Amino acid sequence: MSIHLLSEQTINQIAAGEVVESPASVVKELLENSLDAGAKKICVETLGGGLKLIRIADDGSGMSPKDAKLAILRHTTSKIVDAHDLFHIATKGFRGEALASIASISKMTIQTALGSEMGIQIEVENGHVVAEKSYARNRGTTVEVRSLFYNVPARKKFQKSAVAISAEIFKLMTEMALCHPETSFEFSSNNKTAFKVLATEDPQFRMKELLGDPFCTDSFPLHFEEAGFCISGIIGAPTNSRANRLGQHLFLNQRVIVCDPIAEAVRTAYGTRLEERRYPIFCLHIKAPADLIDVNVHPQKLTVRLRKEEWFVEKVVHAVEKALAWKVDKPFVVPSHLTQLSPLEVHAETLHLRFQENAPLSEQELPLAWDPLEVMGYFDRFIFFKEKEQICILDRKAASFRIHYEELIAKGEEKVEKQGLLIPFTICLTPLEAAMVLTHQEAIECLGFELHLIGKDTFMVEAIPSMIDPKDVEKMLAEMGEMLRDFIGKLDYKIERQKKLALLAARYATHSSSVSEEGALHLYKRLMACDTPFSCPKGTPTLVTLAYENIEDLFKTHRKVATQLAN
Ligand code: ADP
Ligand code: MG
Repeated sequence: MSIHLLSEQTINQIAAGEVVESPASVVKELLENSLDAGAKKICVETLGGGLKLIRIADDGSGMSPKDAKLAILRHTTSKIVDAHDLFHIATKGFRGEALASIASISKMTIQTALGSEMGIQIEVENGHVVAEKSYARNRGTTVEVRSLFYNVPARKKFQKSAVAISAEIFKLMTEMALCHPETSFEFSSNNKTAFKVLATEDPQFRMKELLGDPFCTDSFPLHFEEAGFCISGIIGAPTNSRANRLGQHLFLNQRVIVCDPIAEAVRTAYGTRLEERRYPIFCLHIKAPADLIDVNVHPQKLTVRLRKEEWFVEKVVHAVEKALAWKVDKPFVVPSHLTQLSPLEVHAETLHLRFQENAPLSEQELPLAWDPLEVMGYFDRFIFFKEKEQICILDRKAASFRIHYEELIAKGEEKVEKQGLLIPFTICLTPLEAAMVLTHQEAIECLGFELHLIGKDTFMVEAIPSMIDPKDVEKMLAEMGEMLRDFIGKLDYKIERQKKLALLAARYATHSSSVSEEGALHLYKRLMACDTPFSCPKGTPTLVTLAYENIEDLFKTHRKVATQLAN
């Protein structure tokens, strides 16, 4: 076959293959156009999973008759002028392809008016205007797409069932409505209203309307702002997790996006609070400088590329960790309804994952509430403090884990305090552990070790971190070697490696067997200076509080049980 130029219609149909994967992508493109046109109210109707009909009516800017006829041509857009504009795109569309692509594989009708003059109705078939007439309507645009894929039967054959497509459209509509609480949406499928939500200034109100109780009840608000970055929304309690990612809704600069690094960052922040293969639920709006986000990666603009991925990840992890620390891990107060059951049921484990949707506490508020403290006594590794009307019980093991972990993380690549050993000793590792320790020796030495390979898989240990007991060193380094295997073949692992090493080292941090009153208060203060003071990095509480009434309740309940037994 000789080389020839493809017809405009064929080119459009090829482009449509990228932009229009399914009826849901048509809905998405048309919705985006309405939102770009500043619509405050959008009505969406579909029939037969959108294959028969998709109709989207908006009260946006509308188009002049001339623009309406231009809009259906390929590469026509009002949103960018040249490639420079790609670096600060404020609209959802910019490729100027959607209407042309959709028009090339469907029968399309557009009714539009600017409000100030008579509107127009155009009928488009095979990408060409086949009829036009004046049309009176309020400002805004209605786009009707019928018989999608009628002229590309091969594509039609590959579509899912109408029920599956309807579900996909429903999901998309929900995401778009969550993303744009400031806009009213009405959505009906096969003449039945699926949902109708009114514009609201409160994104969380929209979340409650659309995501429902199971999602929102065991969740709590998050808000964090720093240097051009803002994240807000709700995150689920660790107990309110899912086996898949379906409960994750992410919006970046008011775009529905899929972004694995961010979703993963949220999960990282939950740390050990979540079991393996469980995913947190969340609905988060992120705002960040537009020049850090590349949306021009994917024809449907769903996947975005982050220009400073680490910057995003660090901010998200920090925000979620902070929210979890102050909301989830507040010192565990024994609530009276639990003490009423039976004194035996007062376990910290049963108490610690309880949430209230009250306003976030300011950071200064909490620690101050416990000053001044009085040391009451010690019981094994626990220190009892008295503070006004309550007793605080501090677990020295968990507290020291938390304190050392955060101190090690804060030091970054700086070396920490070490104790040189008067009599160095040797340790023997397995070949793999030894290889891993050698590969990552510099990072390990940052923790305060000084190691020399002196024989096959044998190291001379000349210094160790000051918080570590020499007798734990061999076990600890073996464990490090094992853990470091995770990084074989990985790139960019420095931060993650430092976290994991710090986690392991801090877990081995010792706490002296006796502690003076001054030492106890000092420990408490160091704990409170942590970013996440109320739990160890593995989620165990560091501090439990018992109010006077809680203690009194324990006795009352006990008496009640005794009386019941007597009767
Ligand atoms: P893009 O959105 O990438 O610019 P489209 O093919 O989706 O490309 O739309 C082409 C142009 O048509 C848009 O730039 C816009 O000017 C106009 N347009 C499309 N839909 C609407 C609408 N609902 N309201 C007002 N203008 C619209
Ligand atoms: Mg568009």
